[in-house]
Amino acid sequence: LSGKGGVGKSTIAANLAVSLSLANKKVGLLDIDIHGPSIPKIFNLEDNNITSRGDSLIPIAVSANLFVMSIGFMLPDQNTPVIWRGPMKYNMIKQFLMNVEWGDLDYLIIDSPPGTGDEPLAIAQLLEGADGAVIVTTPQQVALTDVRKGVSFCKKVNLPIIGVIENMSGFVCPHCGQITHIFKSGGGKKMALDMNIPFLGTIPIDPGIVDACDLGKQYLQHYNENQTGKSFENLIRIMLEFHKT
Ligand code: ADP
Repeated sequence: LSGKGGVGKSTIAANLAVSLSLANKKVGLLDIDIHGPSIPKIFNLEDNNITSRGDSLIPIAVSANLFVMSIGFMLPDQNTPVIWRGPMKYNMIKQFLMNVEWGDLDYLIIDSPPGTGDEPLAIAQLLEGADGAVIVTTPQQVALTDVRKGVSFCKKVNLPIIGVIENMSGFVCPHCGQITHIFKSGGGKKMALDMNIPFLGTIPIDPGIVDACDLGKQYLQHYNENQTGKSFENLIRIMLEFHKT
C-alpha cells in the first residue's frame, strides 16, 4: 500500500517478487491498480493479453517461478481510462483472487493503488489470513501524513502491518559517493516508531531504477550487487522474518 502515487510502490512490489523468485520461491504478482496499472510496463509485458481456460484466467509467466496478473492486460489500450464504480472493482478483484490459475504459490504479492479506497478494502475483505501490508512512503511530510491514514486503515480492517519502507531516501552521487537527502530523510523511521509499527528500511534514489523501469527490465535481476540492491536485500530479509513469525 501507499498513501500517495509515485512513491515507488509498484517498483518495490515488482522487485520483491523478482527477488523471491530468484531465491527459487514460486511467486504471484497481482496488480490491482485499476486506474494506473504499471506492472505490465515494469516487466515489458504491455503487449500481452489475458487468456483463459474455462472459467480460469491464466497469469503471464515472467519466468518458471514468477507469474503476473494485471488489470492492464484487460484494457484495450494504455490510454483508455477505466471508469468503474466500487462494486465493479470489487467483483474484478474477487475474480483475480479466486479465478486465476496461480498454481501452488509460496507468495502472492499484491500491488494496490495509492490511498485507502475500494481496492485495498476489497483485498482486506476478500483475503482472509493475509500476512499483512507493506506501506511504502517517501520521506516528505506530505507523504508521511498519508501513511498515518494507511496505518489507521489497516488497523480498522484488521490487516496486519508488516512494516514501512522509506523509498527515495537520499541520492548517492555516482561521481563522489556523497549522499544528498533531496526529500529529507528519517521521517519514515520516526513515524513508524511513533506509531509502533516495524520500520523495514530505506531505498535510495537511484537513476538505474528509472532506467530499468522504463526499459521493462527488472532492476534487482541486473544490479543486485550495488548499494540499492543491498538495500532491497536487507529489507526483504526483514520482511521474510515477519513472514516466519
Ligand atoms: P507508485 O507505484 O507508487 O505509483 P512507481 O513504482 O510506479 O510508483 O514509481 C514511480 C516512478 O519512480 C517510476 O518511474 C520509478 O522507476 C521511479 N522510482 C521508484 N523508486 C525509485 C528510486 N528508489 N529511485 C529512482 N527512481 C525510482
